[in-house]
Amino acid sequence: MKDLKHIYYFEKLLEDANNDLVRQAEVDGQIVIGSVCSQIPEPLLNLPGCFSVRLRAPRTGSIEMGTYYMSSLLCECCRAILERAIEGGYNFLDCILAPDACAQMNRCVENIDKQHLIEKEHFFVSYADVPMKSDASALKHYVKQMRLRVLEPLQEKFGIDVSDTALCKAVEEHNRICKIMTEIGDFRKQENPVITGYEYAVLCLATYSCPKNLLVEKLEETLEELKTREPDAKNPYKARVVMVGSEIDDPDLIRLTEEAGALVIADRYCFGSLPGRVEIVLNDEEDVLTQICAFYLKTGQCPRFMNTDKIVERKEYVHQLAQDYQADGVIYQQLKFCDYWGYERALASHVMRDDYGYPVLSIDRPYVVGNSGQLRTRVQAFVESIEIKKLNK
Ligand code: SF4
Ligand code: SF4
Repeated sequence: MKDLKHIYYFEKLLEDANNDLVRQAEVDGQIVIGSVCSQIPEPLLNLPGCFSVRLRAPRTGSIEMGTYYMSSLLCECCRAILERAIEGGYNFLDCILAPDACAQMNRCVENIDKQHLIEKEHFFVSYADVPMKSDASALKHYVKQMRLRVLEPLQEKFGIDVSDTALCKAVEEHNRICKIMTEIGDFRKQENPVITGYEYAVLCLATYSCPKNLLVEKLEETLEELKTREPDAKNPYKARVVMVGSEIDDPDLIRLTEEAGALVIADRYCFGSLPGRVEIVLNDEEDVLTQICAFYLKTGQCPRFMNTDKIVERKEYVHQLAQDYQADGVIYQQLKFCDYWGYERALASHVMRDDYGYPVLSIDRPYVVGNSGQLRTRVQAFVESIEIKKLNK
């Protein structure tokens, strides 16, 4: 296929956490909020006057210092982010608003805080306790924590407007991006899609890493371009897969998977669009913050939710995606030493294979995988097994 007009622009934005658009918004006087987990609702971090940057460590090389402070037994994503903070890579942040969701990420954020790694004078860190269940009492607690640990600090420290009107405006902006990304993502349902999983991952990652209002124009142009883009005459991929699991903040993992023959047609991972880019529908009757929190509890697919309903729902959700996007198989991937996804991957890979009948590839991986020969070989073998299965049918 012909290259997308703006793909290089979006790829460039991903090369640095402090990218051109972040710098531009900072110059415009916007407050920059570091985010480390999907469990703080994004609209709360993107109220008028501020925006969120989900922390990534692009072009990571050595993570020796991160490992020194956090040990070699914690997730490499956390270690790489700490390493980048030690190098001064996040000095543009005004604060980090983190949930007590993943203890490993919290150790990383604590290190950033206690070692005073961010230079801005007023920089602060706030932690919110987030529920592991999705019932009514969990929602009440979630709302309270979001008010106490996210909205109030933003209002007190930076004068951010946290009124219902401001919250509605933030949801509106959020939905604008979600609508575009959903429309673009739907092209992946085509038999011979006009967008690759890699290209989609680049666009989606940019929406997590940049001020959204500065991205909209180019995303809209890309959507228009896709409407008339001609796919390759012959589909170069041998299988279609749903990618599930922990954070993928580097599109090279998707590129590697596709180079090995498996087109990634659905992205069910942290930093992905399902459900991260699903529009939030608000009504006029209930409290706005409660509605936002309820949406995140209802749609959240993080394995940290441990009530039975949610455990079952996660498999059903992947099954539904596989149906909707006509997947041939599922890849469960997890960053090494991630407890939540370690358990989920071990269990779900069997359930999806034995109970739902999907071919499943189950992998744990290091943070940087762009050139992993071992992973490429495993994906190739998985694709071959799917092809053999199809032939046998
Ligand atoms: S997998 Fe769960 S705990 Fe980990 S960053 Fe994503 S939402 Fe947060
Ligand atoms: S991959 Fe797992 S351990 Fe690492 S930050 Fe995400 S949830 Fe935490």
